[in-house]
Amino acid sequence: MTRAGLSLLVGLAACSSSTRSPDVTPAAAIAIAHVTVIDVTGGPPRSDATVVVRGNRIASIASGDSAIVPGDARVVEGRGKYLIPGLWDMHVHAAWRETAEPFAELFVANGITGIREMWGDLGVIRDWRSHVADRDGARPRIYAAGNLVDGPNPVWPNSNRAADAREARELVRSLRRDGADFIKVYSRLPRDAYFAIAEEAKSLGIPFAGHVTIAVTAAEASDAGQRSIEHLTGVVLGCSSLEDEIVRQVATVIASRGWVAASGLSRGLGGLIDSTYDEARCRSLAERFRRNETWQVPTLTVRYNITHLEDPRLERDPRLRYIPQFVRQRWADRSATIESGPAASAEGQQALQRREVAVTGLLFRAGVPILAGTDVSNPYCLPGFSLHDELARLVDAGLTPLGALQAATLNPARFLHATDSLGTVEVGKLADLVLLDADPLADIHNTSRIAGVIVNGRFIDSAERERLLNDAAGASASMMRRPPPGRVPRRRPAL
Ligand SMILES: [Zn+2]
Repeated sequence: MTRAGLSLLVGLAACSSSTRSPDVTPAAAIAIAHVTVIDVTGGPPRSDATVVVRGNRIASIASGDSAIVPGDARVVEGRGKYLIPGLWDMHVHAAWRETAEPFAELFVANGITGIREMWGDLGVIRDWRSHVADRDGARPRIYAAGNLVDGPNPVWPNSNRAADAREARELVRSLRRDGADFIKVYSRLPRDAYFAIAEEAKSLGIPFAGHVTIAVTAAEASDAGQRSIEHLTGVVLGCSSLEDEIVRQVATVIASRGWVAASGLSRGLGGLIDSTYDEARCRSLAERFRRNETWQVPTLTVRYNITHLEDPRLERDPRLRYIPQFVRQRWADRSATIESGPAASAEGQQALQRREVAVTGLLFRAGVPILAGTDVSNPYCLPGFSLHDELARLVDAGLTPLGALQAATLNPARFLHATDSLGTVEVGKLADLVLLDADPLADIHNTSRIAGVIVNGRFIDSAERERLLNDAAGASASMMRRPPPGRVPRRRPAL
């Protein structure tokens, strides 16, 4: 077992430990009666089931009147409702001092019972894990990288910098020592530093995942063992008949004019990459991903948002009222939220974004494993809410509703080597569940019709959900006039 897998399981063990903090009342049993269970394995939905949760585990599932409801159970009427596993957002940036608490509330209220933190503060991540271990129902589970690892001229000024193989190996060791579950790699890593990370991570048994640096191809990243590729970085380029030539040109610019110029060149090539799309190449790349089990996290939501920042619907979204003001300000300040430059053509980027949607469908049909992720913290990626948007976008891209649901439930469990505890509605598994008012397999938008959430065995009913959302709206409004200057993060959000 990998060390990161072990770390997650230690977290899970802590959740089920009987030595909880004394102020947490042990949950009485909860019985969701006469509900339709969608266990997401692909079998037929199980109607008229009664699901009993005791502590933080699913204790029993029985059909019809044969179900025995324990005397101490809180009975929740499930007739006409649907029960699915808790949802995971597999690409977020939430574990920062200023966002951890408000974002966690929004995750929970929206049925997100687990997150993969792609760049957070390891101190905040440790606090977060202790909330989960305390089973207070306030936080989703967390699987986390620490600070990301970029090259000597990083995209974000305060990321870790690895200029060469030696520095790269040292960073992998120190991040692992400091408690990172995986290493997040980024866009401007030099080739030697990138491959050193791959080797060091492999020898230490810690996964690495993230962007495909502009210095390697997606196929090389897949062969090097990168566990997941975010935002399809390098993937659509890998489907272009001009890939070899473009990669050579980018390498020449890195050597002659540096990383910033090379990044600008890359961003400016969206239209060309789209127009030289070659489906046969794309299929062969997909086959490589399938063979190497290279997971894809297309993050269609953020890719749409940052390529369409002028779309007035983004700023008119009524759900913005739940978002802290300092976050909204950051989003409204377009120049601070995107990398812009003379070389980046908006039309080209939009063409590339549309192609990414089509490629996501192709990857799914080819059997490439896919995870749902939103890139919370980036423009108009709303904690909790946007995961439901992402599921709908995945269906629009060509996933079946079941495939989209799996991308946020069963697939994260597989990705985390935790299918014994997570990912389906089954006896013995951790009680992370979402109760819906309508069938998500009939219409994926129904995942947002939430009647209740069970987080690590704690039931959040509709009244408590309402309270969480009202708290968030109240906190946002109270920061309307006087944004707390000390708490405004200086860094720009990270893709
Ligand atoms: Zn990100």
